[in-house]
Amino acid sequence: MDGREGRQKREGEGHSEPVQVYCPKCGHTEIVYIPREEIPLCPRHKKRMLVKEILTEGKYY
Ligand SMILES: [Zn+2]
Repeated sequence: MDGREGRQKREGEGHSEPVQVYCPKCGHTEIVYIPREEIPLCPRHKKRMLVKEILTEGKYY
């Protein structure tokens, strides 16, 4: 993750959605954008975290 993007935004392509991921072992959670970002590893267990919730814009309950 370099944090900077020198590219223009594109509509349609490159659409990413924020998801909340968590580690089932320690409960550590993070927000990542898929599919742009990969599901990260738990910093403690070095194990791939699981998707807990998809945080879509039009979230309905
Ligand atoms: Zn963990």
